[in-house]
Amino acid sequence: MSPPPDPRPGPRPDPGPDLPREADVVVVGGGINGMCAAIHLARMGVGTLVLDGGGNPGTTTNAGSLHVQMQSRFIRLETPERVAALKRHLSLYVMAVRAWEALAADLDADIELKVEGGLMLAETPEQYEFLADKCREEQRLGLRVEMLDRAALDRVAPYLGPNAIGAEFCADEGKMNTLLANPAIERAAVAAGAAVVRRTPVTGLAVDGTGFRVTTPAGTVRCGRVVNAAGGAAGAIAAMLGVRLPVESEPLHMNVTEAVAPRIGHLVQHADRQLTLKQSVGGNVIIGGGRPAFFDPRSGRPSVFRRSIEGNLALALHICPWLSDVRLIRTWAGVNAKTDGRPVLGEVPGVPGFFVLVSGDAGYSLGPISGQLLAEVMTGRAPAYDVSDFGIARFGG
Ligand SMILES: Cc1cc2nc3c(=O)[nH]c(=O)nc-3n(C[C@H](O)[C@H](O)[C@H](O)COP(=O)(O)OP(=O)(O)OC[C@H]3O[C@@H](n4cnc5c(N)ncnc54)[C@H](O)[C@@H]3O)c2cc1C
Repeated sequence: MSPPPDPRPGPRPDPGPDLPREADVVVVGGGINGMCAAIHLARMGVGTLVLDGGGNPGTTTNAGSLHVQMQSRFIRLETPERVAALKRHLSLYVMAVRAWEALAADLDADIELKVEGGLMLAETPEQYEFLADKCREEQRLGLRVEMLDRAALDRVAPYLGPNAIGAEFCADEGKMNTLLANPAIERAAVAAGAAVVRRTPVTGLAVDGTGFRVTTPAGTVRCGRVVNAAGGAAGAIAAMLGVRLPVESEPLHMNVTEAVAPRIGHLVQHADRQLTLKQSVGGNVIIGGGRPAFFDPRSGRPSVFRRSIEGNLALALHICPWLSDVRLIRTWAGVNAKTDGRPVLGEVPGVPGFFVLVSGDAGYSLGPISGQLLAEVMTGRAPAYDVSDFGIARFGG
């Protein structure tokens, strides 16, 4: 789905004196991917400028779940080819957690990163069997997962109501507070030497000699290389150079409750239904799970469906009946960038110097490791993970 143009916040009216006119690398998009790439590039000595237009991002709207085990919504809803790729790259998600831990230790603020494990719940014997099969496969692939029966659930997750009969537990899953993480990550990019200019959309991109000319309403920047990290808009940025990059903008729904006493340590999901449920350090219960939202044609912004609010809350109450005493304080919608499930990461064949960085599934979880890998590729280092499966060439054209 292509979103209508986002009217916020509007281009800057004048060329600002703060817009650098030259950079080694321009990163288009200051979401989690662009910002993490900028941190690593700047630390590796590359002059990096991040330009962000402030459009419809996933990063500032996401739920802060740190995913590792295969999400049932992808396995049950997606094609077998996607599942095979998911399995092939499961270890990348474990690396992603380690990358978050390293990043968090390096930031100037506590981002409330907690890796206390994740539960995927079963309510029926059939769902339990599905999880047990998944668990065996994930163990074979090296994940720290195990099956828990109801008695074990009572011990580790007493906050659950009576409906779950068991769960798959993944020790490496977790959560963080994105409201704290995103600004801290941007400060880290700036501290590393990157320049970050917001409210400045890239409106044109052209090859210029051995580099590129990047056009914005605030003026033009000349650079040697470009990183396209524009999330759902990455396809439009690629098209400016005649490159085909199929990225879909997927509006998704979230809910958050008032703060209550701490009860839920895990990231909780469901074997068969759309649910993510966790509690922030501050006590708010954050409830999501990939339910749909939509682009409001009047504003161009993502907006919520009533049925997603109701469906999400009904399921959360079904799993944790005590939530009926807790008030919902906010719902929102954000835009996920959806590819074929795998990251798109690397240089575009035929356009030397033009790099793409788009997340695979659970893209916020993958942001720090993806940014690191791209910076390693761009600086001629051996990437810490084999990225040969992530090239844009797989889309043809
Ligand atoms: C509601 C919701 C909940 C989610 N929850 C989770 C979760 O719990 N865990 C998880 O792992 N993932 C989650 N995701 C997915 C995750 O948020 C995304 O995969 C991730 O944020 C993608 O990061 P990104 O940097 O690639 O793109 P984005 O965050 O979309 O950033 C792209 C940036 O590019 C900018 N941009 C666009 N066009 C231009 C232009 N022309 N010029 C300059 N800048 C431009 C935008 O302003 C934006 O800031 C969720 C997504 C949504 C929508």
